[in-house]
Amino acid sequence: MPRFTAPDGRVDIKSLSFDELTEELVALGSERFRALQVWKWLWQHKVRTFEEMTNLSKVWREKLPSHFVIQELTPVGVLTSTDGTRKFLWHTAEGQQIESVLIPDEDRLTLCVSTQVGCAMACSFCLTGDLGLKRHLKPGEIINQPLQISRILPEGQRITNVVMMGMGEPLHNYDNLVAALRVYLDENALGMSHRRITVSTVGLVPAMKKLTDELPVNLAVSLNASTEEQRREVMPITKKYSMQELLETCRDLPIHHHKRITFEYVMMAGFNDSIEDAARLAKLLRGIRSKVNLIPYNENPSRDIKRPAADVAKAFQHYLVTRGVQCSIRSTRGKDISAACGQLGKADPSTVALFGPPPVATAHDSTQSPRE
Ligand code: SF4
Repeated sequence: MPRFTAPDGRVDIKSLSFDELTEELVALGSERFRALQVWKWLWQHKVRTFEEMTNLSKVWREKLPSHFVIQELTPVGVLTSTDGTRKFLWHTAEGQQIESVLIPDEDRLTLCVSTQVGCAMACSFCLTGDLGLKRHLKPGEIINQPLQISRILPEGQRITNVVMMGMGEPLHNYDNLVAALRVYLDENALGMSHRRITVSTVGLVPAMKKLTDELPVNLAVSLNASTEEQRREVMPITKKYSMQELLETCRDLPIHHHKRITFEYVMMAGFNDSIEDAARLAKLLRGIRSKVNLIPYNENPSRDIKRPAADVAKAFQHYLVTRGVQCSIRSTRGKDISAACGQLGKADPSTVALFGPPPVATAHDSTQSPRE
């Protein structure tokens, strides 16, 4: 992995893997065990300063800030939907805006995480695609979204699920995504279960194969069509990886026997929502351990795409279910704050309420010891 640095040349410590951190510390003259102490302070105790790492000697607490920086996203604001969904706006160090969406649903609290500023995939129905790709997010920026939000949740509440479905195509930022996911999964870091992490993709075939070989997380494929022509029309990536190649890959992926690939299907009225589409879809998915998530399109003034009527979506679902395809209709969340699927990246920071982390604890008021 390339080493990420701040403009002042210090190493972005949150973008290092555990092994990289160990090597950096050893190069500074530290014993190896110190890496685990620092790692736990960063990810389990979520500290924002080296001063808070109270089981390190004063010498090391003073030495580390001259070599490393603990970078955080700058909270810009939060929008709260009438349905309880919250959209968080952040600025990166250089002032680029990204968004994360927190969705409460019964006993679940799901965070939709961004992996890029903008997106290069240009799916025609998606507002994020209009931005183009500004840059990939660093591992630390992908991890900071759940980490910083978890700090402001009420006592007893925690993020239960993470979906990489925010701004960007996660697999286009493969190395940084995987580095971040390793921290999500590490029991000495965020300690999440692989069953609760889902990576969504437009179908970057080689990266899909690599990901399923490397990590056991869930995979969601954004399909949105029942023919090659239809898919090419709304998802330009189909010109590079045809739908046939994509589905053959899905058929062959070493998916764990408890898991299924989720196929996301944005339903657009009069385009891909007919019973003929449903019939073709059922045929296409034969032999793939899958489930289909129907997403009735979230209308937007900048697009001439209509949302299908509720009974059309229901009939489509019914057709699939009666052919043995697991299928649900995703309820739209956060529509009034443009937090629904395909609507991220255009929030106006001047319209949002402010939020921020609690004040930084100092060495004097930090009484909690790390769990070593
Ligand atoms: S749907 Fe996803 S991959 Fe397609 S343009 Fe939007 S953010 Fe990018």
